[in-house]
Amino acid sequence: MPRIAILGAGLAGCSAAVRLAQLGLSSTLFEQAARPMSGASRNNEGKLHLGFVYAADPTGRSWHVMAEAAVAFETCVRDLFSLRPQDICLSTPFAYTVCRDSALPPTAIEAHLDQVDTYLRSIDAGYRACQALPDRDLSGTFDTDHVATAFMTPERAVHVGRLADGITRAISKTPAITLRTGTRILGADRLADEVYQLRLAQADGQRSETFDLVINALWDDRLRLDACIGLDAPGPAIMRYKASILFDAVPPDLLNRLPSTTLVSGAFGDLVNRGDGSVYLSWYPVCKLGQTTDIDARALREQASLVDPESLVNGSIDGIARYVPVARELHQLAPTARIGGGVIVAWGQTDITDRSSKLHARENIGVEQTGRWISVNSGKFTTAPAFGLAAAASARDALSG
Ligand SMILES: Cc1cc2nc3c(=O)[nH]c(=O)nc-3n(C[C@H](O)[C@H](O)[C@H](O)COP(=O)(O)OP(=O)(O)OC[C@H]3O[C@@H](n4cnc5c(N)ncnc54)[C@H](O)[C@@H]3O)c2cc1C
Repeated sequence: MPRIAILGAGLAGCSAAVRLAQLGLSSTLFEQAARPMSGASRNNEGKLHLGFVYAADPTGRSWHVMAEAAVAFETCVRDLFSLRPQDICLSTPFAYTVCRDSALPPTAIEAHLDQVDTYLRSIDAGYRACQALPDRDLSGTFDTDHVATAFMTPERAVHVGRLADGITRAISKTPAITLRTGTRILGADRLADEVYQLRLAQADGQRSETFDLVINALWDDRLRLDACIGLDAPGPAIMRYKASILFDAVPPDLLNRLPSTTLVSGAFGDLVNRGDGSVYLSWYPVCKLGQTTDIDARALREQASLVDPESLVNGSIDGIARYVPVARELHQLAPTARIGGGVIVAWGQTDITDRSSKLHARENIGVEQTGRWISVNSGKFTTAPAFGLAAAASARDALSG
């Protein structure tokens, strides 16, 4: 039996591990945290991107990839991880709210939504197109001094905590997966004949182990590990730490008035009414806690840990309430808010305020294979299961070739 190592038990790594088990291949799944799905896959917004935010991608490739992955997401994870209905909890649909200080005019946003709608109708018979919000609803929900228009879309977010719990259960029930939590991958070496030696740190010390095939799904540590075996990134990567704020048990009277909304286009943020009584908020100007083009994200995490929680929460509420006035009432829940977030990895060098930044696209994502080292750039939560499955297929082919 070949010795297969999967590095990182996020959505990409877990998808690859379960698919390999279905193909009759055993693997060892390494994770530095105490349980799987503890990284970006448990701490993100959970939006299943239909492609609407990629209006500034001139090639259109990003929104095609996202649309296809989002349409397939729910069925894919439900079948792969044998999830129960309660493991998949969806938010209310997102309104795309065009700010008066948007980098793109409302006409350009509307044209983009139209072309994504047309494509989605062609791949999903049950798809319901976006609709402009009537003036009365617009002024009832948003501050029209700062908001020009809004479109109701069918896009939703999935509750990442519930999904992560369901996936963790599936991993523990799969005998072909040996889960090694509390194990940090320090480095890797390529030995002769495509054998890879991993350097591991555990509570009881450090050791090395060899494997015949490695799937690198480490997300914010992926490029560092690729570099250990001599693989260069195809271009500069930018890592940004983005914090998020969770309000649990929001009173129903307030909850019913809080829309799920994405403010476009530029350095704004999102509000998500998660469908279980909780609300997610991220306001980019306050929640972006740092960025680096270094391939080691550890300093970025340390920098993020220094943030003052009170000003993060209150500054974010004030930021979004300028556009969505009802959000101001979240101040009453500020003392119990939970702070989450994590590192976002993408190609490019500059932030989203730069119109030519590569952050406006998600190109060149997916699986790269060199010998029996398979590196998975999951790109987004939306695309992570599909690329995890693709990594497993590459692994099977590499071993049978
Ligand atoms: C705040 C925020 C909001 C986001 N919102 C969205 C969204 O709405 N929609 C969307 O599609 N995407 C979103 N994303 C992106 C999304 O979260 C990621 O693309 C996706 O979760 C990555 O999955 P993954 O499996 O590749 O990585 P992860 O889930 O991060 O898994 C990698 C695992 O590797 C482990 N690991 C890392 N280094 C080591 C090491 N050296 N040794 C051992 N283990 C290690 C980590 O602990 C982690 O569990 C967001 C990201 C953030 C941070």
